[in-house]
Amino acid sequence: MSDKKIAPKKADKITGVKGMNDILPADAGLWELFDNTVQTVLKSYGFQQIRTPIVESTSLFARGLGAVTDIVEKEMYSFADSMNGDLLTLRPEATAGVVRAAIEHNLTYEGPKRLWYTGPMFRHERPQRGRYRQFHQVGAEAVGFSGPDIDAELMMLCQRLWDDLGLDNIRLELNSIGNAEERLRHRIDLIAYFEQHFDVMDEEAKRRLHSNPLRLLDTKNPAMQEMVNAAPQLLAYLGEESQAHFDGVQNILRHNNVPFTINPRLVRGMDYYNRTVFEWVTDELGSQGTVCAGGRYDTLFEMFGGKPTPSCGFAMGIERLLELMRAAGEQYAGNQCDVYVVHQGDAAQLKASVVAERLRDAGLDVVLHCASASSSSVKAQMKRADASGAAFAVILGEEEVAGDMATVKPLRASEGETHQHNQALVPFDSVADYLVDQIIGGGDHEGHDHAGHDHTHH
Ligand code: ATP
Ligand code: MG
Repeated sequence: MSDKKIAPKKADKITGVKGMNDILPADAGLWELFDNTVQTVLKSYGFQQIRTPIVESTSLFARGLGAVTDIVEKEMYSFADSMNGDLLTLRPEATAGVVRAAIEHNLTYEGPKRLWYTGPMFRHERPQRGRYRQFHQVGAEAVGFSGPDIDAELMMLCQRLWDDLGLDNIRLELNSIGNAEERLRHRIDLIAYFEQHFDVMDEEAKRRLHSNPLRLLDTKNPAMQEMVNAAPQLLAYLGEESQAHFDGVQNILRHNNVPFTINPRLVRGMDYYNRTVFEWVTDELGSQGTVCAGGRYDTLFEMFGGKPTPSCGFAMGIERLLELMRAAGEQYAGNQCDVYVVHQGDAAQLKASVVAERLRDAGLDVVLHCASASSSSVKAQMKRADASGAAFAVILGEEEVAGDMATVKPLRASEGETHQHNQALVPFDSVADYLVDQIIGGGDHEGHDHAGHDHTHH
């Protein structure tokens, strides 16, 4: 045996999974601003949050979304649970899960419900700008509502959110895809039309021609645009009821000054939609310009074995919206705290923990200096205090401890002030009162946003 030390071999780095992003602290402020704004808006319309699992049975999506869809054909992360052989899928979208849960827990027993969710979704797509393999959505599902009023409400909610986020470059496109019967009549004419244009159709289009011809209208292939533009339009096949519903939606939107354009070629990716479909699109994100999409799904509950429950919902892509917020110059102050506590010596360290707790009791955000591998001289700590964004440092050294005092040092001159306040020696027991007065009570710190982060639009 040798006790010669063997230097550990440097381990290979493990990297994240392609298309799945880390969201770093530098971006946390923007995410928080988005989350807070969207939650406030949803609440102002009476929506309640629902949290469903990220993993569902594969059959839920296969049955719910339709076999001949991008998601089910090629984008799902599906696997067999090696413990019991269950066939499972990381959710590619959340409507199917929410509807499953609504049926399982009989959520509409007492009447219709306004539900919303947020969280990660997973699709095996080619990663590119605005298209990731793990991405995030916020969505709303209004379940048990049959009229055009809720469809319009969902769109007005979105409009309010864009306004509150300071985004003025998102426009609404609207269409109606009728009911199953109307689509069937349209489908016959549509297939006949496409059959006359085989020459310009790509392989995917030919393959889907008989299984899902409507989806051909949604093609991203520029070579097919012109042909698709001239195809028979579903709008011409709407019966009286579908037409009245569609008119009703438009009426409410116009009455509330929500601008929209009718896009007769707008269809949605999933099979479960009927009647109203809509997308919010922008020109500022290249080809991934749809930031929110939704529509009515009156038959999905029955497809899952539930009672007839007419419903309408939408889902928005958070990453795409954050990119718009960044482009709009959204300013946000992340990681700010009010006070950074600096200390030197054992006795001071103990007192520092006490004063930090008292300040938190008083409602302030406090960072207490803690030991790390690097230097913790008072000078080094003051540097950290400065970088923390804190408005004040509380300093406890030998002298302060001996006199039962603390030094309170303002770290930044507030706006409009020409000279910085001087530091003050404050009795230890009065530090919390003193700082609350300075930070929350003091007139010259108005605008200090205690609940969240300051932000301004540029
Ligand atoms: P696309 O036509 O761009 O593939 P989709 O019809 O598949 O979109 P939906 O299933 O309707 O998209 O999802 C709603 C929203 O979620 C989209 O409008 C988009 O903002 C966002 N989204 C969808 N897929 C992704 C992804 N892979 N990465 C980032 N955001 C996404
Ligand atoms: Mg897609």
